[in-house]
Amino acid sequence: MVNIRRTIARLTITAAIGLIAAAISMPASAGDMLLSASFESGTDGFSARASETVSRTNAKAYDGQYSLSVSNRSQAWNGAVISLGSAWTSGETYSFSCAVYQGSGEAVDMKLSLQYDDSSGTTNYAQIATDSVPNDKWTVLSNTAYQIPAGATARYLYVETAESLCDFYVDAVFSELPTVYRKGDVNHDEAIDKKDAQMLLRYLLGEPEAVDLDTADMNGDGKLNVIDLTLLRKYFIYPERYTTTTTTTTTTTTTAPVLKPGQWNNTADISWIPAGSKTVALSFDDGPISGQNYATRIHEALTKQGFHATFFYWGTRIASNENEIKEAERRGFEVANHTWSHPENLDQQDANGVMSEYTKCKDALNRVLGVDRDYLVRLPYLKYSTTIANTLPVPCPNCGLDSGDWSGNSADRIIQIIQGEANSGALNGKVILMHETYDATATAVEQLCPWLEQHGYVVCTVSEMFKYNNKEMYAGKVYNSCW
Ligand SMILES: [Zn+2]
Repeated sequence: MVNIRRTIARLTITAAIGLIAAAISMPASAGDMLLSASFESGTDGFSARASETVSRTNAKAYDGQYSLSVSNRSQAWNGAVISLGSAWTSGETYSFSCAVYQGSGEAVDMKLSLQYDDSSGTTNYAQIATDSVPNDKWTVLSNTAYQIPAGATARYLYVETAESLCDFYVDAVFSELPTVYRKGDVNHDEAIDKKDAQMLLRYLLGEPEAVDLDTADMNGDGKLNVIDLTLLRKYFIYPERYTTTTTTTTTTTTTAPVLKPGQWNNTADISWIPAGSKTVALSFDDGPISGQNYATRIHEALTKQGFHATFFYWGTRIASNENEIKEAERRGFEVANHTWSHPENLDQQDANGVMSEYTKCKDALNRVLGVDRDYLVRLPYLKYSTTIANTLPVPCPNCGLDSGDWSGNSADRIIQIIQGEANSGALNGKVILMHETYDATATAVEQLCPWLEQHGYVVCTVSEMFKYNNKEMYAGKVYNSCW
Protein backbone atom coordinates (compact mmCIF):
# COMPACT_ATOMS: atom_id res chain seq x y z
CA MET A 1 0.00 0.00 0.00
CA VAL A 2 3.00 2.23 0.43
CA ASN A 3 3.14 3.82 -2.99
CA ILE A 4 -0.49 4.66 -3.37
CA ARG A 5 -0.76 5.97 0.15
CA ARG A 6 2.13 8.29 -0.43
CA THR A 7 0.58 9.53 -3.60
CA ILE A 8 -2.67 10.19 -1.87
CA ALA A 9 -0.95 11.91 1.02
CA ARG A 10 0.86 14.25 -1.33
CA LEU A 11 -2.35 15.13 -3.07
CA THR A 12 -4.01 15.73 0.22
CA ILE A 13 -1.17 17.98 1.23
CA THR A 14 -1.30 19.88 -2.03
CA ALA A 15 -4.99 20.43 -1.58
CA ALA A 16 -4.46 21.64 1.94
CA ILE A 17 -1.77 24.22 1.29
CA GLY A 18 -3.10 27.55 2.41
CA LEU A 19 -5.10 26.10 5.26
CA ILE A 20 -3.43 27.28 8.40
CA ALA A 21 -6.03 26.46 11.03
CA ALA A 22 -4.82 23.60 13.16
CA ALA A 23 -8.17 22.07 13.88
CA ILE A 24 -11.50 23.02 12.40
CA SER A 25 -14.48 21.98 14.47
CA MET A 26 -17.57 21.89 12.34
CA PRO A 27 -19.88 19.25 10.94
CA ALA A 28 -17.71 17.18 8.68
CA SER A 29 -18.50 15.86 5.25
CA ALA A 30 -16.42 13.81 2.85
CA GLY A 31 -13.14 15.49 2.03
CA ASP A 32 -13.45 18.06 4.84
CA MET A 33 -10.12 18.76 6.51
CA LEU A 34 -10.35 18.16 10.27
CA LEU A 35 -6.70 18.62 11.10
CA SER A 36 -4.11 20.49 9.11
CA ALA A 37 -0.91 21.14 11.02
CA SER A 38 1.92 22.76 9.06
CA PHE A 39 3.70 24.41 11.98
CA GLU A 40 4.21 27.58 9.98
CA SER A 41 2.85 29.77 12.76
CA GLY A 42 3.05 27.66 15.91
CA THR A 43 2.94 24.15 17.27
CA ASP A 44 -0.65 23.82 16.03
CA GLY A 45 -1.87 22.14 19.20
CA PHE A 46 0.90 19.54 19.40
CA SER A 47 2.93 18.98 22.55
CA ALA A 48 5.21 16.41 24.17
CA ARG A 49 3.85 13.15 25.59
CA ALA A 50 6.29 13.19 28.48
CA SER A 51 9.56 15.02 29.19
CA GLU A 52 10.88 15.03 25.63
CA THR A 53 11.33 18.36 23.85
CA VAL A 54 8.77 19.29 21.19
CA SER A 55 9.24 22.63 19.48
CA ARG A 56 8.69 24.40 16.23
CA THR A 57 11.78 24.69 14.06
CA ASN A 58 12.92 25.89 10.67
CA ALA A 59 15.87 23.48 10.69
CA LYS A 60 13.84 21.07 8.53
CA ALA A 61 10.54 21.27 6.68
CA TYR A 62 8.53 18.95 4.47
CA ASP A 63 6.19 21.72 3.50
CA GLY A 64 6.67 25.46 3.94
CA GLN A 65 9.55 26.53 6.18
CA TYR A 66 8.79 25.04 9.58
CA SER A 67 8.24 21.66 11.13
CA LEU A 68 8.01 20.22 14.61
CA SER A 69 11.24 19.00 16.23
CA VAL A 70 11.11 16.11 18.70
CA SER A 71 14.27 15.50 20.75
CA ASN A 72 15.55 14.35 24.14
CA ARG A 73 13.46 11.21 23.91
CA SER A 74 13.99 8.54 26.56
CA GLN A 75 11.22 6.16 25.45
CA ALA A 76 10.15 4.96 22.01
CA TRP A 77 6.67 6.27 22.70
CA ASN A 78 7.95 9.79 23.33
CA GLY A 79 6.82 12.05 20.52
CA ALA A 80 4.49 14.78 19.39
CA VAL A 81 0.86 14.41 20.45
CA ILE A 82 -2.43 16.19 19.84
CA SER A 83 -5.84 15.54 21.36
CA LEU A 84 -8.56 14.63 18.88
CA GLY A 85 -11.54 16.87 19.60
CA SER A 86 -15.23 16.55 18.90
CA ALA A 87 -14.73 16.78 15.14
CA TRP A 88 -13.81 13.08 15.17
CA THR A 89 -16.51 10.54 16.01
CA SER A 90 -15.41 7.23 17.46
CA GLY A 91 -16.46 4.32 15.28
CA GLU A 92 -16.13 6.45 12.12
CA THR A 93 -13.41 6.21 9.48
CA TYR A 94 -10.96 8.99 8.74
CA SER A 95 -7.87 9.62 6.70
CA PHE A 96 -4.69 10.38 8.69
CA SER A 97 -1.28 11.30 7.39
CA CYS A 98 1.90 13.00 8.53
CA ALA A 99 5.37 13.55 7.16
CA VAL A 100 8.30 12.43 9.31
CA TYR A 101 12.06 12.81 9.05
CA GLN A 102 14.95 11.38 10.99
CA GLY A 103 18.70 11.66 10.54
CA SER A 104 19.97 8.91 12.80
CA GLY A 105 22.12 7.44 10.05
CA GLU A 106 19.95 4.37 9.55
CA ALA A 107 16.33 3.50 8.77
CA VAL A 108 13.97 3.81 11.71
CA ASP A 109 10.52 2.24 12.07
CA MET A 110 8.14 5.07 12.85
CA LYS A 111 4.47 5.04 13.73
CA LEU A 112 1.47 7.30 13.65
CA SER A 113 -0.55 6.04 16.59
CA LEU A 114 -3.75 6.56 18.52
CA GLN A 115 -4.03 6.47 22.30
CA TYR A 116 -7.56 6.07 23.58
CA ASP A 117 -9.59 4.77 26.48
CA ASP A 118 -12.10 2.05 25.80
CA SER A 119 -15.50 1.76 27.47
CA SER A 120 -14.01 -0.02 30.46
CA GLY A 121 -11.62 2.87 31.02
CA THR A 122 -8.56 0.94 29.90
CA THR A 123 -6.01 2.94 27.92
CA ASN A 124 -5.18 1.40 24.53
CA TYR A 125 -2.57 2.17 21.90
CA ALA A 126 -3.43 1.54 18.26
CA GLN A 127 -1.30 1.84 15.16
CA ILE A 128 -2.75 4.02 12.42
CA ALA A 129 0.18 3.92 9.99
CA THR A 130 3.76 2.72 10.10
CA ASP A 131 6.72 2.68 7.79
CA SER A 132 10.43 2.17 7.74
CA VAL A 133 11.68 5.74 7.47
CA PRO A 134 15.02 5.98 5.65
CA ASN A 135 17.78 8.18 6.98
CA ASP A 136 17.63 11.78 5.81
CA LYS A 137 14.45 11.42 3.77
CA TRP A 138 11.00 12.82 4.49
CA THR A 139 8.49 10.00 4.52
CA VAL A 140 4.71 10.20 4.73
CA LEU A 141 2.96 7.89 7.17
CA SER A 142 -0.57 7.57 5.93
CA ASN A 143 -3.75 5.61 6.33
CA THR A 144 -6.55 6.82 4.12
CA ALA A 145 -9.22 4.81 5.93
CA TYR A 146 -8.60 4.34 9.62
CA GLN A 147 -11.59 3.57 11.82
CA ILE A 148 -11.37 5.06 15.28
CA PRO A 149 -12.53 2.27 17.61
CA ALA A 150 -16.17 2.61 18.59
CA GLY A 151 -16.63 3.92 22.09
CA ALA A 152 -13.12 5.34 22.25
CA THR A 153 -12.66 8.38 24.53
CA ALA A 154 -9.64 10.46 25.51
CA ARG A 155 -8.23 10.08 22.03
CA TYR A 156 -4.72 11.29 21.25
CA LEU A 157 -2.97 11.21 17.89
CA TYR A 158 0.80 10.93 18.21
CA VAL A 159 4.00 10.13 16.37
CA GLU A 160 6.48 7.68 17.89
CA THR A 161 9.19 5.22 16.92
CA ALA A 162 9.04 1.45 17.26
CA GLU A 163 12.31 1.23 19.21
CA SER A 164 14.77 3.95 18.30
CA LEU A 165 15.28 6.92 20.62
CA CYS A 166 16.47 9.15 17.79
CA ASP A 167 15.40 12.74 17.33
CA PHE A 168 12.87 13.30 14.56
CA TYR A 169 10.80 15.91 12.82
CA VAL A 170 7.09 15.98 12.07
CA ASP A 171 5.35 18.10 9.44
CA ALA A 172 2.17 18.25 7.39
CA VAL A 173 -0.15 16.38 9.74
CA PHE A 174 -3.57 15.94 8.22
CA SER A 175 -6.80 14.25 9.06
CA GLU A 176 -9.98 14.37 7.09
CA LEU A 177 -13.04 12.35 6.32
CA PRO A 178 -11.97 9.99 3.56
CA THR A 179 -12.52 11.33 0.11
CA VAL A 180 -15.09 9.39 -1.83
CA TYR A 181 -13.32 8.57 -5.05
CA ARG A 182 -15.27 7.98 -8.20
CA LYS A 183 -15.47 4.51 -9.69
CA GLY A 184 -12.53 4.18 -12.01
CA ASP A 185 -10.23 6.52 -10.14
CA VAL A 186 -8.02 3.58 -9.29
CA ASN A 187 -4.96 5.65 -8.44
CA HIS A 188 -6.95 8.28 -6.55
CA ASP A 189 -5.64 11.21 -8.53
CA GLU A 190 -9.18 12.47 -9.10
CA ALA A 191 -9.02 11.86 -12.81
CA ILE A 192 -10.19 8.79 -14.66
CA ASP A 193 -7.73 8.16 -17.42
CA LYS A 194 -5.26 5.75 -18.94
CA LYS A 195 -3.14 5.82 -15.81
CA ASP A 196 -5.97 4.14 -13.91
CA ALA A 197 -6.30 1.47 -16.58
CA GLN A 198 -2.55 0.96 -16.70
CA MET A 199 -2.43 0.53 -12.94
CA LEU A 200 -5.28 -1.97 -12.97
CA LEU A 201 -3.72 -3.84 -15.89
CA ARG A 202 -0.38 -4.09 -14.05
CA TYR A 203 -2.25 -5.42 -11.04
CA LEU A 204 -4.08 -7.98 -13.15
CA LEU A 205 -0.80 -9.06 -14.69
CA GLY A 206 0.46 -9.84 -11.20
CA GLU A 207 2.64 -6.82 -10.56
CA PRO A 208 2.61 -5.40 -7.03
CA GLU A 209 0.14 -2.56 -7.32
CA ALA A 210 -1.98 -1.44 -4.39
CA VAL A 211 -5.21 -0.88 -6.26
CA ASP A 212 -8.28 0.17 -4.35
CA LEU A 213 -11.04 -2.40 -4.72
CA ASP A 214 -13.79 0.15 -4.27
CA THR A 215 -12.68 2.28 -7.18
CA ALA A 216 -11.40 -0.52 -9.41
CA ASP A 217 -14.30 -2.95 -9.08
CA MET A 218 -16.21 -1.38 -11.95
CA ASN A 219 -19.05 -3.90 -12.06
CA GLY A 220 -19.30 -4.18 -8.29
CA ASP A 221 -19.02 -7.96 -8.16
CA GLY A 222 -16.38 -7.88 -5.43
CA LYS A 223 -13.65 -9.16 -7.75
CA LEU A 224 -11.00 -7.41 -9.78
CA ASN A 225 -10.58 -8.92 -13.22
CA VAL A 226 -10.38 -8.09 -16.88
CA ILE A 227 -14.06 -7.21 -16.98
CA ASP A 228 -13.36 -4.28 -14.70
CA LEU A 229 -10.52 -3.27 -16.99
CA THR A 230 -12.81 -3.26 -20.02
CA LEU A 231 -15.41 -1.22 -18.21
CA LEU A 232 -12.77 1.18 -16.95
CA ARG A 233 -11.32 1.71 -20.39
CA LYS A 234 -14.77 2.51 -21.70
CA TYR A 235 -15.26 4.95 -18.88
CA PHE A 236 -12.25 7.06 -19.63
CA ILE A 237 -12.37 6.73 -23.37
CA TYR A 238 -16.00 7.84 -23.48
CA PRO A 239 -16.65 9.64 -20.18
CA GLU A 240 -19.61 11.52 -21.60
CA ARG A 241 -21.46 8.22 -21.90
CA TYR A 242 -21.19 7.71 -18.19
CA THR A 243 -21.88 11.12 -16.72
CA THR A 244 -25.49 11.32 -17.83
CA THR A 245 -26.67 7.90 -16.74
CA THR A 246 -28.34 9.06 -13.54
CA THR A 247 -30.31 11.73 -15.33
CA THR A 248 -31.24 9.74 -18.39
CA THR A 249 -32.40 6.52 -16.76
CA THR A 250 -35.63 8.04 -15.53
CA THR A 251 -36.50 9.62 -18.85
CA THR A 252 -35.71 6.65 -21.07
CA THR A 253 -38.77 5.18 -22.63
CA THR A 254 -38.61 1.95 -24.55
CA THR A 255 -40.39 2.21 -27.83
CA ALA A 256 -40.46 -0.80 -30.07
CA PRO A 257 -38.28 -0.20 -33.10
CA VAL A 258 -40.01 0.07 -36.43
CA LEU A 259 -38.65 -2.79 -38.50
CA LYS A 260 -38.99 -3.42 -42.17
CA PRO A 261 -40.21 -6.88 -43.21
CA GLY A 262 -37.51 -9.41 -42.41
CA GLN A 263 -35.30 -6.88 -40.71
CA TRP A 264 -33.38 -8.30 -37.78
CA ASN A 265 -33.90 -6.38 -34.56
CA ASN A 266 -30.35 -5.35 -33.77
CA THR A 267 -30.26 -4.52 -30.06
CA ALA A 268 -26.48 -4.09 -29.81
CA ASP A 269 -25.20 -1.41 -27.45
CA ILE A 270 -22.74 0.68 -29.41
CA SER A 271 -22.42 3.48 -26.87
CA TRP A 272 -18.88 2.38 -26.06
CA ILE A 273 -17.56 2.76 -29.60
CA PRO A 274 -16.17 6.25 -30.13
CA ALA A 275 -17.29 8.29 -33.09
CA GLY A 276 -14.98 8.09 -36.07
CA SER A 277 -13.72 4.60 -35.30
CA LYS A 278 -12.87 2.00 -37.87
CA THR A 279 -14.64 -1.19 -36.87
CA VAL A 280 -13.85 -4.80 -37.57
CA ALA A 281 -15.74 -7.87 -36.37
CA LEU A 282 -13.51 -10.76 -35.43
CA SER A 283 -15.70 -13.85 -35.22
CA PHE A 284 -14.80 -17.21 -33.76
CA ASP A 285 -16.45 -20.49 -34.70
CA ASP A 286 -16.65 -24.01 -33.35
CA GLY A 287 -16.58 -23.49 -29.60
CA PRO A 288 -17.26 -24.08 -26.83
CA ILE A 289 -14.63 -26.69 -26.30
CA SER A 290 -12.94 -28.17 -23.29
CA GLY A 291 -9.33 -29.09 -22.82
CA GLN A 292 -7.95 -26.02 -24.57
CA ASN A 293 -7.08 -22.56 -23.34
CA TYR A 294 -7.43 -20.84 -26.70
CA ALA A 295 -10.86 -19.39 -26.00
CA THR A 296 -9.66 -18.04 -22.66
CA ARG A 297 -6.64 -16.44 -24.31
CA ILE A 298 -8.82 -14.92 -27.02
CA HIS A 299 -11.23 -13.61 -24.38
CA GLU A 300 -8.45 -12.02 -22.40
CA ALA A 301 -6.69 -10.52 -25.40
CA LEU A 302 -9.94 -8.87 -26.46
CA THR A 303 -10.79 -7.65 -22.99
CA LYS A 304 -7.34 -6.22 -22.38
CA GLN A 305 -7.95 -3.90 -25.29
CA GLY A 306 -11.55 -3.21 -24.32
CA PHE A 307 -12.72 -5.08 -27.42
CA HIS A 308 -15.65 -7.35 -28.17
CA ALA A 309 -16.13 -10.18 -30.66
CA THR A 310 -18.76 -12.66 -31.80
CA PHE A 311 -18.55 -16.34 -30.89
CA PHE A 312 -20.55 -18.81 -32.95
CA TYR A 313 -21.20 -21.87 -30.81
CA TRP A 314 -21.65 -25.41 -32.03
CA GLY A 315 -24.74 -26.87 -30.35
CA THR A 316 -23.59 -30.38 -29.54
CA ARG A 317 -20.45 -28.96 -27.91
CA ILE A 318 -22.38 -26.82 -25.44
CA ALA A 319 -23.11 -29.47 -22.80
CA SER A 320 -20.50 -29.30 -20.01
CA ASN A 321 -18.89 -26.22 -21.59
CA GLU A 322 -21.59 -23.79 -20.54
CA ASN A 323 -19.25 -21.67 -18.46
CA GLU A 324 -17.26 -20.61 -21.48
CA ILE A 325 -20.41 -19.18 -23.04
CA LYS A 326 -21.44 -17.44 -19.85
CA GLU A 327 -17.97 -15.95 -19.59
CA ALA A 328 -18.19 -14.63 -23.15
CA GLU A 329 -21.51 -13.02 -22.34
CA ARG A 330 -20.14 -11.50 -19.12
CA ARG A 331 -17.38 -9.87 -21.11
CA GLY A 332 -19.85 -8.22 -23.44
CA PHE A 333 -19.12 -10.55 -26.33
CA GLU A 334 -21.82 -11.69 -28.71
CA VAL A 335 -23.04 -15.22 -28.25
CA ALA A 336 -24.21 -16.68 -31.56
CA ASN A 337 -25.41 -19.85 -33.26
CA HIS A 338 -23.28 -22.18 -35.39
CA THR A 339 -26.09 -24.78 -35.72
CA TRP A 340 -26.68 -27.82 -33.58
CA SER A 341 -24.66 -30.55 -35.30
CA HIS A 342 -22.50 -28.51 -37.68
CA PRO A 343 -23.68 -30.52 -40.73
CA GLU A 344 -21.59 -30.56 -43.89
CA ASN A 345 -24.72 -30.45 -46.00
CA LEU A 346 -26.95 -27.79 -44.53
CA ASP A 347 -27.29 -26.36 -48.02
CA GLN A 348 -28.81 -29.68 -49.12
CA GLN A 349 -31.34 -29.86 -46.31
CA ASP A 350 -35.00 -28.91 -46.52
CA ALA A 351 -36.61 -26.20 -44.45
CA ASN A 352 -37.38 -28.57 -41.59
CA GLY A 353 -33.76 -29.68 -41.41
CA VAL A 354 -32.49 -26.09 -41.51
CA MET A 355 -34.93 -25.00 -38.81
CA SER A 356 -34.08 -27.97 -36.64
CA GLU A 357 -30.35 -27.20 -36.79
CA TYR A 358 -31.06 -23.56 -36.00
CA THR A 359 -33.62 -24.10 -33.25
CA LYS A 360 -31.85 -26.81 -31.31
CA CYS A 361 -28.72 -24.68 -30.96
CA LYS A 362 -30.71 -21.55 -30.15
CA ASP A 363 -32.63 -23.39 -27.43
CA ALA A 364 -29.41 -24.71 -25.92
CA LEU A 365 -27.91 -21.20 -25.87
CA ASN A 366 -31.10 -19.85 -24.32
CA ARG A 367 -30.85 -22.42 -21.56
CA VAL A 368 -27.26 -21.42 -20.83
CA LEU A 369 -27.95 -17.70 -20.76
CA GLY A 370 -31.45 -17.82 -19.33
CA VAL A 371 -32.92 -15.54 -21.98
CA ASP A 372 -34.48 -16.00 -25.39
CA ARG A 373 -32.35 -14.36 -28.06
CA ASP A 374 -32.32 -13.98 -31.81
CA TYR A 375 -28.79 -15.24 -32.20
CA LEU A 376 -27.02 -14.64 -35.47
CA VAL A 377 -26.15 -17.81 -37.37
CA ARG A 378 -22.82 -18.72 -38.92
CA LEU A 379 -23.45 -21.36 -41.55
CA PRO A 380 -21.21 -24.43 -41.25
CA TYR A 381 -18.61 -24.41 -44.04
CA LEU A 382 -20.32 -21.17 -45.10
CA LYS A 383 -22.68 -23.28 -47.23
CA TYR A 384 -25.75 -21.38 -48.31
CA SER A 385 -28.92 -22.22 -50.22
CA THR A 386 -32.21 -20.68 -51.28
CA THR A 387 -33.92 -22.82 -48.65
CA ILE A 388 -31.65 -21.39 -45.97
CA ALA A 389 -32.34 -17.88 -47.29
CA ASN A 390 -36.09 -18.46 -47.13
CA THR A 391 -36.08 -20.32 -43.81
CA LEU A 392 -33.70 -18.81 -41.30
CA PRO A 393 -35.31 -16.02 -39.24
CA VAL A 394 -31.97 -14.36 -38.52
CA PRO A 395 -29.07 -13.01 -40.58
CA CYS A 396 -25.95 -15.04 -41.36
CA PRO A 397 -22.67 -13.19 -40.99
CA ASN A 398 -20.38 -14.84 -43.45
CA CYS A 399 -16.76 -14.21 -44.31
CA GLY A 400 -15.41 -10.86 -45.43
CA LEU A 401 -11.87 -12.01 -44.78
CA ASP A 402 -10.74 -15.55 -44.06
CA SER A 403 -7.96 -15.92 -41.50
CA GLY A 404 -7.37 -19.40 -42.90
CA ASP A 405 -6.71 -20.70 -39.40
CA TRP A 406 -8.81 -23.76 -40.29
CA SER A 407 -6.39 -24.56 -43.13
CA GLY A 408 -3.34 -24.57 -40.87
CA ASN A 409 -2.22 -20.97 -41.18
CA SER A 410 0.39 -19.95 -38.62
CA ALA A 411 -0.14 -17.08 -36.24
CA ASP A 412 2.25 -14.98 -38.30
CA ARG A 413 0.31 -15.73 -41.45
CA ILE A 414 -3.01 -14.85 -39.81
CA ILE A 415 -1.54 -11.58 -38.56
CA GLN A 416 -0.14 -10.87 -42.02
CA ILE A 417 -3.54 -11.43 -43.63
CA ILE A 418 -5.36 -9.06 -41.28
CA GLN A 419 -2.65 -6.40 -41.15
CA GLY A 420 -2.39 -6.56 -44.94
CA GLU A 421 -6.11 -5.92 -45.24
CA ALA A 422 -5.87 -3.02 -42.82
CA ASN A 423 -2.86 -1.54 -44.58
CA SER A 424 -4.70 -1.67 -47.89
CA GLY A 425 -7.66 0.15 -46.34
CA ALA A 426 -10.05 -2.75 -46.80
CA LEU A 427 -10.45 -4.03 -43.24
CA ASN A 428 -12.96 -1.48 -41.96
CA GLY A 429 -16.45 -2.96 -41.63
CA LYS A 430 -15.45 -6.53 -42.42
CA VAL A 431 -16.51 -9.78 -40.79
CA ILE A 432 -13.38 -11.85 -40.16
CA LEU A 433 -13.68 -15.64 -40.08
CA MET A 434 -11.67 -17.29 -37.31
CA HIS A 435 -11.96 -20.28 -35.00
CA GLU A 436 -11.42 -20.47 -31.29
CA THR A 437 -9.97 -23.95 -31.63
CA TYR A 438 -6.41 -23.13 -32.74
CA ASP A 439 -3.34 -22.05 -30.85
CA ALA A 440 -2.29 -19.99 -33.88
CA THR A 441 -5.56 -18.07 -33.72
CA ALA A 442 -5.15 -17.25 -30.05
CA THR A 443 -1.57 -16.13 -30.59
CA ALA A 444 -2.58 -14.01 -33.57
CA VAL A 445 -5.42 -12.36 -31.66
CA GLU A 446 -3.10 -11.59 -28.74
CA GLN A 447 -0.83 -9.71 -31.10
CA LEU A 448 -3.48 -8.22 -33.33
CA CYS A 449 -5.59 -6.59 -30.62
CA PRO A 450 -3.00 -4.01 -29.53
CA TRP A 451 -1.97 -3.46 -33.14
CA LEU A 452 -5.53 -2.86 -34.28
CA GLU A 453 -6.12 -0.39 -31.46
CA GLN A 454 -2.95 1.47 -32.37
CA HIS A 455 -4.20 1.69 -35.92
CA GLY A 456 -7.57 3.18 -35.02
CA TYR A 457 -9.70 0.06 -35.10
CA VAL A 458 -12.30 -1.00 -32.62
CA VAL A 459 -12.81 -4.75 -32.63
CA CYS A 460 -16.50 -5.31 -31.94
CA THR A 461 -19.23 -7.85 -32.39
CA VAL A 462 -20.90 -8.39 -35.74
CA SER A 463 -24.13 -6.82 -34.59
CA GLU A 464 -22.30 -3.89 -33.00
CA MET A 465 -20.38 -3.29 -36.21
CA PHE A 466 -23.50 -3.22 -38.34
CA LYS A 467 -25.38 -0.98 -35.94
CA TYR A 468 -22.44 1.37 -35.57
CA ASN A 469 -22.21 1.72 -39.34
CA ASN A 470 -25.98 2.21 -39.68
CA LYS A 471 -26.37 -0.97 -41.67
CA GLU A 472 -29.42 -3.10 -41.22
CA MET A 473 -29.38 -6.87 -41.42
CA TYR A 474 -32.17 -9.10 -42.71
CA ALA A 475 -33.21 -12.64 -41.95
CA GLY A 476 -31.71 -15.31 -44.17
CA LYS A 477 -29.17 -13.00 -45.80
CA VAL A 478 -25.44 -13.47 -45.67
CA TYR A 479 -23.15 -10.57 -44.81
CA ASN A 480 -19.44 -10.34 -45.47
CA SER A 481 -19.09 -6.72 -44.49
CA CYS A 482 -21.12 -3.63 -43.71
CA TRP A 483 -20.72 -2.33 -47.23
ZN1 LIG B 1 -17.55 -24.39 -37.99
